[in-house]
Amino acid sequence: VPESSNSLQAYAKDKLSDQMVELFEACQQQTSDLARKETCRTRLQKDIQSIYAVARLYLTGSSMNGLGCRSSDADLCLVLKGNNRPDPIHVLTVLQRLFKSLSYVERTQLIRAKVPILRFREKGSDLEFDLNINNTVGIRNTFLLRSYAYADLRIRPMILVVKKWARHNQINDASKGTLSSYTLVLMVLHYLQTLKEPVLPSLQRDYPECFYAFLDIDVVPEGPKRVPPYISTNQSSLGELLLGFLKYYATDFSPSSLLSSILHPLVSCFWVRGRSRWDKQVISVREAKALPKNNSKEWRNKYICVEEPFEKNNVARAVHEKIKFDAIKATFAESCRILQDRKDLNSILPVRAII
Ligand code: ATP
Ligand code: MG
Repeated sequence: VPESSNSLQAYAKDKLSDQMVELFEACQQQTSDLARKETCRTRLQKDIQSIYAVARLYLTGSSMNGLGCRSSDADLCLVLKGNNRPDPIHVLTVLQRLFKSLSYVERTQLIRAKVPILRFREKGSDLEFDLNINNTVGIRNTFLLRSYAYADLRIRPMILVVKKWARHNQINDASKGTLSSYTLVLMVLHYLQTLKEPVLPSLQRDYPECFYAFLDIDVVPEGPKRVPPYISTNQSSLGELLLGFLKYYATDFSPSSLLSSILHPLVSCFWVRGRSRWDKQVISVREAKALPKNNSKEWRNKYICVEEPFEKNNVARAVHEKIKFDAIKATFAESCRILQDRKDLNSILPVRAII
């Protein structure tokens, strides 16, 4: 048993928490998974440098931020420095042609999203890559998330379970109008930052020099090395935190009109008109609080507002259909109700099938 898991036992004295640790240990990315991704990254960087001599390839996302699963894809950012900004689609087209000639790459596919990517696989394996050009904010936020992931022992198991739960309930796919993993992670961090006894601080506030938004990209990966673990007075178990997370978004953000009418009839009138915290607030991990929405285009008429910690735009903009928003809220409400009742992870997520 790894040492970190030993100390995790302090937060896993009940069945639900124990199940969370078990799922985490079975699914978390292994050293060998990362080594495989890293080997591929090195090879790709060398091959890309035959065309773009000074290009650098960075592994980002859950492969690097401590929140990866064995099944997670590998996100890559190609940094091309220079005065004139290259057109990402042009570069990806050049790379697609190159990749088709590489013996260890297959199934390349250019995806023209807001951030265009080249998707491909390592030949003969199920390892999938998503490569973008110069989307360096992804490097910055990867190392910010990494610092949060290691600030407290409970963060990594907590987030892994939430990601698995969201995926199982089909609310974890930005391309289908639901939540990206990145958005979900920020939602968990926000919950942990805003508890009466916070489990996390704002690292950007406490260590501005490590997470300065314009830090030279080469030194960004050094930031987390200078952040010590956070000492929280909150000793909640993993299960209590998971329940609290579901409850926070199921009731604090969207109180049912029945509940609020019992609490206060005036409040009820307010909610009936459809004004919940989802309508009024922006989730900000940067500030470790929910900020009032202003009337800017970024937040206006958006169902869910979650602020990107560096670019300050809405990472939840993919949720643009009411039907998807309702499905997300219903999933939180339903899982919260069931888990409160049963206190068994299997009641909201078939653990055995996932392991
Ligand atoms: P998974 O394990 O499901 O692959 P992930 O942590 O890799 O999860 P993704 O949502 O796939 O999460 O995003 C990959 C990375 O891309 C994030 O870690 C982040 O660095 C970056 N990213 C994703 N969405 C945004 C966004 N809206 N703004 C800025 N960066 C983003
Ligand atoms: Mg990923």
